[in-house]
Order: sequence, then structure tokens, then C-alpha cells
Amino acid sequence: WAGTMDLTEPNSGSDVGDIATKAFPTDEPGVYKIVGTKCFITGGDQDITENIIHLALARVEGSVPGTKGISLFVVPKYWPNEAGDVGEFNDVNCGGIEHKMGIRGSATSIVNFGEENKCRGYLLGNPPVDGKGEGMAQMFQMMNEERAVTGLAANAAATVSYNNAAMYAAGRIQGRQITNPKAGRVTIINHEDVRRMLMYQKSITEASRAMISMSYYAMDIAENTEDENERNRAKAFVEVNTPIIKAWCSDLAFLSISEAMQCYGGYGFSEEYPIAQQLRDCRIYPIWEGTNYIQSMDLIGRKWMMAGGKVFATWFAELEKFAADHKDHPVLAAQVALLTEAINQYKEIQAAMSGYVGQGKFGMIGFFATRILHATGYIYGAKLLLEHAVIAQKKIDELGKEHFEYPYYAGKVASAKFFAHNLLPNVGMTLKVIKEGDTSVMEIPEASYLLV
Ligand SMILES: Cc1cc2nc3c(=O)[nH]c(=O)nc-3n(C[C@H](O)[C@H](O)[C@H](O)COP(=O)(O)OP(=O)(O)OC[C@H]3O[C@@H](n4cnc5c(N)ncnc54)[C@H](O)[C@@H]3O)c2cc1C
Repeated sequence: WAGTMDLTEPNSGSDVGDIATKAFPTDEPGVYKIVGTKCFITGGDQDITENIIHLALARVEGSVPGTKGISLFVVPKYWPNEAGDVGEFNDVNCGGIEHKMGIRGSATSIVNFGEENKCRGYLLGNPPVDGKGEGMAQMFQMMNEERAVTGLAANAAATVSYNNAAMYAAGRIQGRQITNPKAGRVTIINHEDVRRMLMYQKSITEASRAMISMSYYAMDIAENTEDENERNRAKAFVEVNTPIIKAWCSDLAFLSISEAMQCYGGYGFSEEYPIAQQLRDCRIYPIWEGTNYIQSMDLIGRKWMMAGGKVFATWFAELEKFAADHKDHPVLAAQVALLTEAINQYKEIQAAMSGYVGQGKFGMIGFFATRILHATGYIYGAKLLLEHAVIAQKKIDELGKEHFEYPYYAGKVASAKFFAHNLLPNVGMTLKVIKEGDTSVMEIPEASYLLV
């Protein structure tokens, strides 16, 4: 048997609070009649498993509007019989399968509950009190894991694409080196622009992998430690990391895979090579589990403010401490200085945003949320890559350049340097854009977008 999570409806995607699926109490305690339509449900209907158990959000009749009035139901496609096998059909129908640009191995379906008014589901947890259900809080336990998994899957796609692109670039002969044209034709990995593209991919995939690993490490601590303070610290860390790894890793994965395709030239655009599919498949990650804009709002609207700002301040302090501890590093001091500069710019971003909010300019949050999330990913990624580089440099000093592991460690140092010099400056640009605060996109009439 397989499971699904059923939030999205045709008229309610990002705004889950507007769902129209309804639940009506029956004579049987805890069992409700379910009526409604969900769309874009992953594994919503398929022939691989004999039964599908839907976890569906619905509003119990009479509950309050918005997310507060939502409850969560366990709705099987078939009721289990006494032996625990597939039994009576529960009036859960497939309304259609989406024809998608990617992840075509995953059946994304419209699910109709109660076409014949015969669909029933178990309420998970308690019935609504004063019209308020527990559904969103329950669903968020799964959503947070799914958001981490989304970042992880995006990173996997970007990593396999990078690995393929690097191998291809090492074999494809084309052109002569700009610095030594007389030496004859070379493999494209010798060209500056191809190296730039490869290092872009390498540094993004390594930064993403580090962020994701840190999140899962903290999740393990939260689950296994017996020390309550340590558990709370780990949970707080995951809270901040989750929107970053969902959104930054997925946005950057797509850009990274696009560069992998570019390394292949025309062959990258061909389905004979692996990149085209990776690029198509990975485009879902910025969209589902809450679009990346929703993640940005989560970061700025919730995580920045959590516990009066203490949660984010603790997370941020780790970056500041790393930069302070390594400011005199014999090899990486220049890159650590760039990190310090970006950290200070980030503080200015926060100050500028609180200035706008103080003036009642709430629209500025909407304008800049996505870019602030990206800036957060850049400072975090730079810190983690520099942390790697410090360790790698120590190994290089120990082993020397002749050792067979030297290229691996040299790659780590180069990855951190590239990220600091080439990607981290995005934070300064975001600050500049935020300070200027141009709002012309909202000042023009809607028709200005429609008349071309
Ligand atoms: C392949 C696939 C699998 C999926 N699997 C599942 C699943 O298993 N279960 C499930 O429940 N759902 C699933 N979804 C649905 C997915 O979570 C939604 O598509 C997503 O949440 C966005 O909702 P929407 O498509 O209605 O877009 P909209 O909500 O209409 O958003 C469109 C655009 O407007 C922006 N936007 C929306 N509201 C605002 C706002 N207030 N302010 C600023 N910008 C805004 C969004 O960020 C987005 O860019 C899946 C979708 C796909 C494509």
C-alpha cells in the first residue's frame, strides 16, 4: 500500500486556507463523510500498489474559515477487510492524470472524494474545538520533512548533472586555448568559460549538500538526544534551515543543471544525453511543497521573528563566529573577509527591511523576500564551503601536492574561493536593490503587463 498527501485543490494551491473539501460527521465516532476534489496529488492513483491511503485536508462542517478550521483525515481508496486485505471501495476516484514536463515516472492525479457520496475517512487526532482543527499542524510535520527531501532531491539532480558535465568536458575536444592557441585543439575542460561553468556547478552542489547534511544532522540530534536544551537548539536550527534548503537548493539546482547542459553544447539539448531529463525533472522542486516564494515568506515572516528573533540570531551567530575565528587564515583570509563583508551587508538588509515595515511599507516584504532568501543561502553556503576549505587546506599542507588525494582537496579549496568571489557578491547587490526600494512594478496598471 502507498500513501499520499492531499492538500492542493483547483482553487486552493499556495493558499491552503481556502480549501473547499468538506467533512461531515457520521454516526460512527471519528468517521466522517468526505466530499471534495484534490489536484496534483503525487501517487494520487496508480496501479503499482493494491491500495492507496490518502492523508487529506478537509474542513469539518461548521469550522472556521482559513487554515485554523482545517482537519486531517485518513482516507483509504479501499477499506481493509477483517483479514487486513483490500476490501470495499471507498468512492475515491481518479479524475485524471497530469501530463507533465518532468518526473513522468510519478503519477500526478486529480482525486475526487465522494463522487457517489460514499467516501468516508478517519479523523486524525481530535475533532475541532470552537471550529478549530489540528490538520495544518499535523500536516506540517510531514511538510517539513518533504521540504528537506525536496532540497535533497534537487541537489541529487544537480550533482549527477555536474558529474556528467565534468566527464563530458574532459573528453570533448573543441577549440584551442585562448592563452596558447598554437598548441592545437584541446578538450573543452581546458577553456576558461567551461571551467567557470563547472566550478559554478561544483560549488553550488557542494554548498547545497553541506546545508542539507547539517539539517539532517540536527534532525538526528533532535530525535535522539536526551538533553532538552540540545534538542531545542537542534530543532530551532532545523526551523531556520528548512526554507533555505528547500528553496535555495532547488532554485540553484535548476541554474546549475542549466549550466551542465551548456557544457554539453547541442548534445545537452538532446534526449540522448542525461541532462535534458534532469533539467525537466528538477523544475518541480521550486514549485511543490509550498512554492519558493512561500519558503521566503516563511524565512522572513516566521523564522526571522521566531522567539523574538532569538532563533535566527543563534543561527546567524554561528556564521559570525566562523568568520571571526578564521579572519587571519593563512590561505583563506581574503575569502573570509568577503564572508564578513556579506554578513554585514545581510545585517543591513535586515535593518532596511525593518525600516520599511516600520513605515508601513509591507509590500516591500513581498518584493524582496525571494531575493533575501537567496542572500541567506549565499552567506550560509559560503560559510560551509569555507569550513570545508579550512579542513582541505590542512590536509594539503600535510600531504603535499604529489599525493593522490591532492586534486580532491584542491578542488574543495577552489570551490570555496569561487563561491566567495563569484556568488557571494549577490548579497551586496541584494542590499543595493533593497535600499533603492524601487516599487515601479506595482505603480503601473495591470494593463501595462498585458498590452505588448
Ligand atoms: C508534479 C506535482 C506534484 C504535486 N504533488 C502534490 C501532492 O502530492 N500533494 C499536494 O497537495 N499538492 C501537490 N502538488 C501541488 C503543489 O504543491 C502546488 O502546485 C503548489 O503548492 C502551488 O500551488 P498552485 O499550483 O495552485 O499555484 P498558485 O498558488 O496559483 O501559485 C502561482 C504563482 O503565484 C504565486 N503566489 C501565490 N500566492 C501568492 C501570494 N499570496 N503572494 C505572492 N505570490 C503568490 C506562487 O508563488 C506562484 O509563483 C504538486 C504539484 C505538481 C506540479
